[in-house]
This record gives sequence, structure tokens and C-alpha cells, in this order.
Amino acid sequence: MNTVKAYGAFAPEKDLEPLDIERRTISENDVKIDILYCGVCHSDIHAARNDWGNAKYPIVPGHEIVGRVVAVGDKVTKYSQGDLVGVGCMVDSCQECSACHDDLEQFCEQGMVGTYNGKNKHTGKQTFGGYSTSIVVKEDFVLKVPENLDTKAVAPLLCAGITSFSPLNHWKIKKGDKVGVIGLGGLGHMGIKFAHAMGAETIMITTSPDKATDAKRLGADAVLISKDEQQMAAHKGSFDFLLNTVPVKHDINPYVQLLKRDSTMVMVGAIEPLEPLHGGNIIMGRKRIAGSLIGGIKETQEMLDFCGKHNITSDIEMIDMNQINTAFDRVTKNDVKYRFVIDMESLKN
Ligand code: NAP
Ligand code: ZN
Repeated sequence: MNTVKAYGAFAPEKDLEPLDIERRTISENDVKIDILYCGVCHSDIHAARNDWGNAKYPIVPGHEIVGRVVAVGDKVTKYSQGDLVGVGCMVDSCQECSACHDDLEQFCEQGMVGTYNGKNKHTGKQTFGGYSTSIVVKEDFVLKVPENLDTKAVAPLLCAGITSFSPLNHWKIKKGDKVGVIGLGGLGHMGIKFAHAMGAETIMITTSPDKATDAKRLGADAVLISKDEQQMAAHKGSFDFLLNTVPVKHDINPYVQLLKRDSTMVMVGAIEPLEPLHGGNIIMGRKRIAGSLIGGIKETQEMLDFCGKHNITSDIEMIDMNQINTAFDRVTKNDVKYRFVIDMESLKN
């Protein structure tokens, strides 16, 4: 075991604070990573504040990790010292069930092991995330990061990136499709970039009129203000696909009405009960509401390679580790453009 520095929460209402955590000694299939940067996902806040009711304290959040390999186990073949790598939301799964065989480890029938607040299969203890100086991860759950991209701005791709890329990829978004991305935050801004890169007519659907200029800079062809009933009515029945990233309980009926016949809205944000859906809104037009959870390791690598090819990264605001509590508050207040990334050098010194 190695003791490393970290930042974590000890209770839902408490600020994050410095603590020491143990990382396992590398086994034959493990990669040890010196963490350079870690993104701040809204899920980190949900987890630290126990919004989902499953928090085991202390929680060390962080599942948008970029770093350099510093050591590898004897049987590791894909990575060597010095490689630039990433770790996302999962660090292990059973690797034997049908979901794992289908490269969908996020739906592992035994339950995937979360990068934090999960159960470490090697030690039986709690997993701790990327708000720390180093991490040890099984090779199969480590991603190669393209060297041509701005490393800091790659970190958010490991969660916000794959979570928005996967549904667009799975539903085969193509040139000419009219795609709406609901909510311009960490996930939403990546959704805009990906939909645009896939050739779709991309519409930002936002509650914040002041984000319109940014939305267009990020690749949106147009902006639809969801609070404006006239604008919503003008787009009724016109979308081929909607990606809904709203992080809290809300009324999805106005969004469903935007879909064309036989089209789909994918929910990735609110993991909680929603306002009731009026059945007529999906029965009329054979519409679908689906969900999506991050993406498997293979697809995450495809996403990173796609980003390398199309020069896509996240728009970020850099912070030091000790600014994390202010960052959490600002994300909650919808005040970040569009992802905070922690410079882990600030925790090392
Ligand atoms: P975020 O940066 O806070 O962005 C969410 C955006 O949603 C906000 O910027 C805002 O955009 C909009 N919004 C906020 N409150 C709203 C409301 N009451 N009604 C309508 N729109 C609202 O969050 P994020 O990091 O992108 O994460 C979004 C959600 O996805 C979180 O709940 C997170 O836990 C979840 N998540 C899910 C997965 C998955 O695999 N499914 C993975 C990662 C994260 P506008 O100002 O443009 O309206
Ligand atoms: Zn996340």
C-alpha cells in the first residue's frame, strides 16, 4: 500500500478537505498513474452530498482523470512508463457477463466498480477517485489519450465526453439530422461539439439566454430558449433526436413535444423521479424516451480517438485543489464555462 494525498468529503453537508488515502501496490495487471488533471463533474457533487443516498464516507470524488503512467505490472501489455492515459467512471467489472462481453462494462451484471464510492475488488475496501495525486487501475480500464490535444482540456472527456458521445453514436446521428442538446453545462457543451462534428444540424436548448453566443461558438447552428413558449411551439415536431442533460427533476413534456414521429429523447442527467409524463406525448407520434449511462471502455477509446482526429476538447476553467468547494457551489449555481478542471500539481506541493 502507498499513502497518497487526496481531497474528500466526510459528510453530506461538509466541505471537502484534505486527507490521506491508501492506493494498492500494483499487481501484475495494474497501471500506476501520476494524476495531472481531474475534471469536476456534477456527479461528484451529487455523490459528495449524498443526493443518490448511497454515499459511503469519506468520499474522494473525481472520475475525469488524465495522467502519466509511472509503473506497470508484469503482465501489462498496452501501456508503459510515460504514456499519457485517462481513467473515467469505472475501474473494474466482472469482464465475464453478457454486458461485459458486449463491451458495455457500465452495465455489468455484477455491477461495475465505480472509480469512487465503489468496492475495490483487490482490497475489499472503498474506491477513491481522482481528487488525489495518484491512482492504481487495472490495465483494461485505462484509456490512451491522444498526445495532440491540450491535456488539461482532455480530462472532462472521460465522463462528460463519453456520456454525450455514446448516445449520439448509438443512435447513429448523421449529417442532416436535427439534434437538440438540452442544458448547456459540462455534458451539454460536449454534446454540441460532437453533434456538430457528426454533421448534424445542432440546436442548443437552454434555459439561459445569456449562453446563446457561447452555444454558437461551440458549434450550435441555432439556440432555442426553453422558457419561451413561442420559440418552443415553432420547433414542435421537428427534432430527430434530443439529448437531455438536465441534472434535476423537471417537466420533460415540453421537450417530448419537440420530437418528430419515431424519434428519441435520451435522458442522461436526472437520475431521480421526473415530473409525470403525459402518455399522449409519446403515443401520438410513436416517440421514445431512452436512457444512457457513460459508455463502455471500447467506445470511450473510440471517443478519445474521434476527439484526437477532430481536435475536440472541453472548454475549461482551471482551479487549484483548495478551490474545490467554491467550484462545487458554482456548478450548483449553473456558473461554470463549462467544466472545472483541477490542476493536481496544486495538491502535490
Ligand atoms: P452541469 O454542468 O451542471 O450542467 C447542467 C445544465 O442543465 C446546466 O448548465 C443548465 O443549462 C441546465 N439546467 C440546470 N438546472 C436546470 C433546470 N432546473 N431545468 C432545466 N435545465 C437546467 O451538469 P453536468 O456535469 O453536465 O451533468 C449533468 C447531469 O448528468 C448531472 O445530473 C450528472 O450527475 C449527470 N451525469 C450523468 C451521466 C450518465 O452517464 N448518464 C454521466 C455524467 C453525469 P442551461 O443553463 O443551458 O439551461
Ligand atoms: Zn461524471
